[in-house]
Amino acid sequence: MMKGMNSNRFFPKNDAVGVLPKPDRTAWLKGGSAVCEMPPRTPRGDAWRLVLLGAPGIGKGTQAELLCERLGTCHLSTGDVFRTAKCLAEHEQTASMKDALKFMRQGALVPDETVLGLIQDRLRCLRCSGGFLLDGFPRTVAQAEALEKTLQDEHIQLTAVLNYELPLERVVARISGRRTCGGCKAVYHVTTRPPKVADICDHCGGALFQREDDRPESVEVRMKAYGTSTRPLISFYEQRGLLISVSAEGSPEEIYQRTRLLALGR
Ligand code: AMP
Repeated sequence: MMKGMNSNRFFPKNDAVGVLPKPDRTAWLKGGSAVCEMPPRTPRGDAWRLVLLGAPGIGKGTQAELLCERLGTCHLSTGDVFRTAKCLAEHEQTASMKDALKFMRQGALVPDETVLGLIQDRLRCLRCSGGFLLDGFPRTVAQAEALEKTLQDEHIQLTAVLNYELPLERVVARISGRRTCGGCKAVYHVTTRPPKVADICDHCGGALFQREDDRPESVEVRMKAYGTSTRPLISFYEQRGLLISVSAEGSPEEIYQRTRLLALGR
């Protein structure tokens, strides 16, 4: 059995369990003293505390949504925090956020110091009794070391690190069809996960758009950053006995079911 896993953890077997209400993530998206109106429910057994790894565009955001809907945990995406800040009026953005958004537009990684400051400001979300699913953080070894230290200090143990894998050319095809909701940040794909009504979010009715950093010129930079800075995290978490590698071939539902079996089978 993997470190941190125990039999007191519930992984729903299929859709029959239904979709749990989506927590609103206000505390995560805004940080500071912001409070969630609808925080995730405290589970009956142990909460899930997961990290998702994988190249940009591989479908982590989509899997994060499926996992959160069914496990009832909260989707903590650092990319969503930056995208939320981007929508603020200029005078509401701090200097370090403005700086971070410059890196993001180019597809480059935001400096560790800024990202770690943002996490520090949202520690309550890591402590949340509903658990969490980190997506897009950590992305460098320095970030992973800082997260490890923070979790140790807080006596919080990760359940597992899910590493999604797919050949590079397939990842690039996925990125080009991706669309995101401007309101709740739900993720769609024009062919593999279309919304019920074209360009409109199924969850909140918001308009869907293509992210600036999903355009070809940014994608190349992001792939390089992944190879150099993020891929080393695979061995980092393998050494700690936390890594579960999952093939990202197939539809979102197939990938979800594969994740479920792998996480249950350990
Ligand atoms: P994502 O939605 O996770 O692909 O993130 C979008 C962009 O936000 C990335 O290309 C980076 O510019 C920035 N970003 C998000 N998370 C991080 C992180 N942990 N470290 C550095 N940059 C990040």
